Parts: sequence; C-alpha cells; structure tokens
Amino acid sequence: MKEINTNEFDQEVLNGGKVVLDFYSTECPPCDALAPKFDGLAKLYGNDIKFLKIFRQQNRELADKLGVKTSPTLLFFDKGKEVGSRFSGGVKRSDIINSLDSMLPKDKVKEIKAQIKPSVSDYDVIILGAGPGGLTAGLYLCQAKINTVLVDIALPGGQVSTTHEVSNYPGFIEPQAGYMLSHNMSEQTKMCGTVYKVAVDITRVDLEKKEIIIDEYETIRAKKIVIATGTSPNATGADGERELKGKVISYCATCDAKYFGDKEVVVIGGGNSAIEEADFISKFASKITIVHQFDKFTANKKAQEKIFANPKISVLFHHEPRSFKRDGDKMITEMEDLVTKERKSMVSDGVFIFIGMKPNIELFKDKLELDKWGYIKTNEDMCTSIPGVYAVGDVISKKYRQITTAVADGTIAAIAIAKEMD
Ligand SMILES: Cc1cc2nc3c(=O)[nH]c(=O)nc-3n(C[C@H](O)[C@H](O)[C@H](O)COP(=O)(O)OP(=O)(O)OC[C@H]3O[C@@H](n4cnc5c(N)ncnc54)[C@H](O)[C@@H]3O)c2cc1C
Repeated sequence: MKEINTNEFDQEVLNGGKVVLDFYSTECPPCDALAPKFDGLAKLYGNDIKFLKIFRQQNRELADKLGVKTSPTLLFFDKGKEVGSRFSGGVKRSDIINSLDSMLPKDKVKEIKAQIKPSVSDYDVIILGAGPGGLTAGLYLCQAKINTVLVDIALPGGQVSTTHEVSNYPGFIEPQAGYMLSHNMSEQTKMCGTVYKVAVDITRVDLEKKEIIIDEYETIRAKKIVIATGTSPNATGADGERELKGKVISYCATCDAKYFGDKEVVVIGGGNSAIEEADFISKFASKITIVHQFDKFTANKKAQEKIFANPKISVLFHHEPRSFKRDGDKMITEMEDLVTKERKSMVSDGVFIFIGMKPNIELFKDKLELDKWGYIKTNEDMCTSIPGVYAVGDVISKKYRQITTAVADGTIAAIAIAKEMD
C-alpha cells in the first residue's frame, strides 16, 4: 500500500493498471474504521491490484476535480478509467471485496480466497456494539474476570465519537469533545483485557447457539451475547437521497462540516440533534437554512435561543424535502410547503439530515421480541426474549436514550451476567 499526492495521480492511478484509491481525512471516524479493512485487503489482493491512499485535505483540488465530496471515498480504476461504484461513509468490507473481485479473472479470485483460513474462537460473552452501552458492559465483565470479546462493524465509541461536544456526562466540569470521551471509555475497557474485533463485517448471528461469524471466515462462540448495537440516522426517503448519500448529503456534522467552509448548506430537522449540529456547522459554513416540518422546533429552549441568535442561520418551517439533485457543483433541494402544497427549489452546496434514529436490529429482528417501533424488549436485568441474550443502550425499548442511560444498562447486564456465571 502506498500514500500518493496530486502530482503522482497520473503516474500511479491513470497509468497504474488496476488500482483502488482511498480519499481519507483526519478526524473522520468512518475513515479510521476503513483503514484496517483497507490494510487487510491490501495484504490479500496487493499483488494484483494496487492499493493507494490520498489525504483529501491536502489534495482538495484533485478531490474536487474527481467529484469526491466526502471522506472516505473509495474509487476503482482499471487502465486509467474509473470502474464500478464508488463507496463512501461507513464502507463495508464485503462491498470492497465484491468490487476487487469484479476486476480480476475468476481463477485469480479463487486463488486469493484460498489463502483465507477459517478460524473458530471461544469466549464467555460476545458484546455486539462498542458504544457506551457495550463498552461499559465490557468493562464490568472483564473486571469480573469474564472472558469477553467486543465486536463492532465500526471503530469503538459509538455515536459519542461523532458528537461534537458532550456537556451532560457526569464527572467533567467542562464540556468534553465526544471523540475524547468515547476514546477514554474505549481505552479503559481495552486496558482491562477485553478483546476487540472492530471494523468487521458481521456475516451471521445465531442468537440461540450464541455464535457469530465475522468477515465470512471467523467464527466466534460464547455462552452469552449482549446486543448493544444502538441506532442509525433516519433517511427522509426523498428522491435522490440514497444516490447522493455520503457525497453531498451527510448525516454526521463532526465528520463533514469542515468541508463546507464558506459554503451554503441546508439542515433538515428540528430536534436537539438538528439544532445542535446546525450550530456546530455554522463554525464553518457561511449560510445555513434549517428546514423543519412543523412550525416550531422540538429541541430544548437553550439550544433554540442560540440558533435564533446566530446571524448565519435562517429557518424554514412547515417544509419537507421531496427530492435532491446535483447541478454541477451545486445541490438542488426541492421543498414542499406542507401548508400551501407549493414546491420550490433551494440551491446549496450540501445537505445535512438529522431527523431521528432507528434501532440497528437487522441481524436479529426476526428472532427477538420487539416493541412496536422495532426496539428490543428487555426485563429489568436487560434479558431479552431469548435466554442468555441481553440487550442494552439505545437499541432497547425505553423512554430516554442518553449516554448515561446506555452506560447504566451496560452495567446492569454485566452484573446480571457475572452473577449468573458465578
Ligand atoms: C448527534 C448526537 C448528539 C448526542 N449528544 C448527546 C449528549 O450530548 N449527551 C448524551 O448523553 N447523549 C447524546 N446523544 C445520545 C448518545 O450518543 C446515545 O444515547 C449513546 O451513544 C447510546 O449508546 P449505545 O452504546 O447504546 O449505542 P451507540 O453509541 O449507537 O453505539 C452502537 C455501536 O454499535 C455498533 N453497531 C451497529 N450495528 C452493529 C452490528 N450489527 N454489529 C456490531 N456492532 C454494531 C455501532 O457501530 C456503534 O459503535 C447524542 C446522539 C447523537 C446522534
């Protein structure tokens, strides 16, 4: 694997045969999550496909020329021409593998796959998800000398790592940068001895057997499983959102606001996240329009006062986006006035969407008892409807979703497990 700059692009990429190029940034959790996958695949495919990295912040002109608007973005080239799809944001290892495989002859792919040796490992507890809930469960379990593995599809930290500032986590007088708070939580749990398997693809989860397969070839077995997979941002469902997601539509201000210096952006939403993140984006962007479906915000009063006093921010109430389109460098958002039903277009440089969250339960939704919103039902010890399977944090059915409540759930599940395994 090699790091290149703009001057080397023609030589290394356009004249470079088969190439995969990673545009990455610093302070970018999805870039950090991609890095170990990229490294691992470079070891497998590196003899046949060139693996290159380029630092987007220092090669911005080239990134703009190639239409790369977010980090990380993976581009694939063959004989100087871009091939296949681009991947941005939380890139899955399996998606990269499919693209790499499509660039090679079938027998070469077979040869590469034959190098991968399946493995099986045994633990007392598997924790799925390394946010505050999973990290706290891991901490308590390893302090109770229970052999625990933490598995996450991204890097440890969960949503806190992409939260600009946290001012309500007890024990800190000053607000804490979210990434530092999550880093400290993660280091504390790791130092205690919990095993980490992060930035992996979860191929299969068998809750009854307490067995999971990661990255297709690695089986992990345990006596108990704790689900701590949290929530993901909702999409608006408007036309064009899926195609432009990760390009000029973002769900993470901490990751992408810095690319909108002196630019105009639209923020969709009106709850605490939308309002707090709009305030953060205003440190970079020159103009922000917050678009909200109701005629007032649902965010707390203090955050609202800050927004209304911010000269860079204006508000468009009772509107919803209906479609997102690119027009050259610009982003066209078609809005519907929910009162008059009239439509109008807004021109901006990018869109941020903060309209609530949904539970991450895709892998186990058919097996567990859920509430009507799809959150996992638990009892007071955080046990789910399957014996030996616990759930904690934002993914469970409860009223209040905060770091403190996730941490509390993780504590309860770990103590209950420790008592059962005693
Ligand atoms: C913008 C924003 C600002 C916030 N600000 C605050 C605040 O100031 N104070 C506060 O108390 N709370 C705040 N919150 C809420 C807080 O972040 C959450 O309540 C908390 O992070 C929940 O922790 P968790 O461990 O349940 O889940 P998460 O933090 O969501 O962590 C879940 C983890 O599971 C992983 N995962 C997902 N699917 C899988 C899978 N299939 N297999 C394995 N791993 C998986 C994810 O990668 C992630 O690492 C904020 C939330 C947002 C979105």
